[in-house]
Amino acid sequence: MSKYITTPIYYVNGEAHIGHAYTTFIADTMARYEKLKGNYTYFLTGTDEHGQKIEESAQKHGKPTQEFADEISASFKNLWDEFEIGYDKFIRTTDEDHKIGVQKAFEVMYAKGDIYKDFYEGHYCVSCETFFPETQLVDGEFCPDCGRTTSVVKEESYFFKLSKYEDALLRHYEENPDFILPRSRANEVINFVKGGLRDLSVTRTSFTWGVKLPESMNDDKHVMYVWLDALMNYVTALGYGKDDANMDFWPASTHFVGKDILRFHAIYWPAFLMSLDLPLPKHIGAHGWWTRDGEKMSKSKGNVVSPKEVSDVYGVENLRYFMLREVPFGQDGDFSQRAFIDRINSELSNDLGNLLNRIIGMSGKYSDFEIDSKDVEKYHTKELDAMNEALGNLDGFMQNMQTHRYLEELWKLFSIGNKAIEEHAPWVKIKEGKKDEALATVALVANILAKASIMLSPVMPKTTAIIADALNFTIDNTSYNELVIDKKLLKLFNIKKVPPLFPRVEEPLMEEAPNAMPDDKPNDKMKEELIANKEAKKEKEEDDNLIEIGQFFETSLKVGVVVEAEEVPKSKKLLKLQVDLGEGTNRQVVAGIKEFYSAESLLNTQVCVVANLKPAKLMGMMSEGMLLAAKDEDGLCLVRPEKPKKAGTPIG
Ligand SMILES: [Zn+2]
Repeated sequence: MSKYITTPIYYVNGEAHIGHAYTTFIADTMARYEKLKGNYTYFLTGTDEHGQKIEESAQKHGKPTQEFADEISASFKNLWDEFEIGYDKFIRTTDEDHKIGVQKAFEVMYAKGDIYKDFYEGHYCVSCETFFPETQLVDGEFCPDCGRTTSVVKEESYFFKLSKYEDALLRHYEENPDFILPRSRANEVINFVKGGLRDLSVTRTSFTWGVKLPESMNDDKHVMYVWLDALMNYVTALGYGKDDANMDFWPASTHFVGKDILRFHAIYWPAFLMSLDLPLPKHIGAHGWWTRDGEKMSKSKGNVVSPKEVSDVYGVENLRYFMLREVPFGQDGDFSQRAFIDRINSELSNDLGNLLNRIIGMSGKYSDFEIDSKDVEKYHTKELDAMNEALGNLDGFMQNMQTHRYLEELWKLFSIGNKAIEEHAPWVKIKEGKKDEALATVALVANILAKASIMLSPVMPKTTAIIADALNFTIDNTSYNELVIDKKLLKLFNIKKVPPLFPRVEEPLMEEAPNAMPDDKPNDKMKEELIANKEAKKEKEEDDNLIEIGQFFETSLKVGVVVEAEEVPKSKKLLKLQVDLGEGTNRQVVAGIKEFYSAESLLNTQVCVVANLKPAKLMGMMSEGMLLAAKDEDGLCLVRPEKPKKAGTPIG
């Protein structure tokens, strides 16, 4: 079977951060897993290098655009090489072959009547390189994706008939419930499509840093809009439009993407592919964000985690393990050194590392390092059954990208091993003269470690190669088939001593982020919190999209009375209100409801207010709450209590 796995191509306007590392790790893990299983697998990553933003960044750095793109692209490639990411191809959208493929696609779509020329006048966000219809803007001027101010731009443009594919897309989502993973993310896409798709402007004349239109179009003012250019990378990498050399890998098994670019991958991309008469990818896997110590990472806060910095001190494989174990795929994850250290010490060092050391020690003492599986089945059927059951569960978790469940299940093997040693106490058996029994337990654990390291190898390829070497075998598709699929046991061998694979980490090895937790050694209270958080998270994982009642009550909703209301000058949408929430002083709430309510009509009326939102600035004014409202095609109405209630009455 062939498998094709991709990361997004990373945009070259900055260095790689921990989120890029996570996407690359999970895609690399999946690709290694498929290769381990013997599937014919192709793994693609690369960089997205066109567009106005890059042109501007290059200017800011005083460099020619190509040189700037070369440098940042190389910084990604070098990092992945240093991390030994096993990609089969690193594509750049500035590659000639890629450009040829995109031009070819444009010609095919145009010939089919799916691309036409018109004018676009619209609100454009330079940062997102996207036009937004007025209805999507926040307060009539701000970008709904990044919040920056948009500007009105009119230019000649070619359009892709996205609207034509609305029904086909909806049908595809319905017939393929695993097209978007996790499934809980599908609704936002489906609702967006149901809301109606507008044709998509796919060229620009306002900048030049992009793929030119095909010569046959005879229109060299235009360059391609970055999304058409960028998304096409998934097929141009396989030779689309040129020699189709690797097109037998198409359709992709999984495109891994961040949740911010899900819409482009789950709507535009399948529509483009339908237009090109190419099959659609099997899965779009959308992952969440990473925070640091619970806070959003940002340059200005100085708390951005550099994957290079982390891997330099903790090791890249420990980082891979941590990230894939820590977060349920699709949800946001948090990077904290405490949680990381906790996993290194308890899971890697205690559960796995010590187990290996213990059997090296015992076999050295009892049998001159010789390990013989001959009596394992006689004394340990219970353990073998439990082990095989856990091994059998793994594939399902990996196929659903639930790496945290996969690793959790895999770790059951180590507890089976550790428990067998405690229960059967080989040192006692030796004293009692039951050497066969003692050696059978040691051999059981050696087999557990062998099978577990095969299955851990996609996550930690180098570390598991060392374990396999100590156990006298090599991790590959052959050993996978023999030891995991056919459930065979290790042949007679001599175990090798290895240096400790996971030295314990006693205190943080990196400087804590500014404003991280006040004292810098993990204390008992923090450990308790960590455990409590883990438990809480685990419960949360069980049901992806449902929330606990407690989560609902984290939102404080209150009845408020509007005591002052005025229009915000120069804003089409905003009203500035003073709302009494029974707190003694009034709250200022800036609300985008001017089109639906006049200021006077609101005076002395009741509203429902989200009272514990972080204050936000809108057009320079503080807003200390949000009004509940319902909006459909007929307009917006405020949600109000059915009967008057006192200001500040909680809603729940
Ligand atoms: Zn934006």
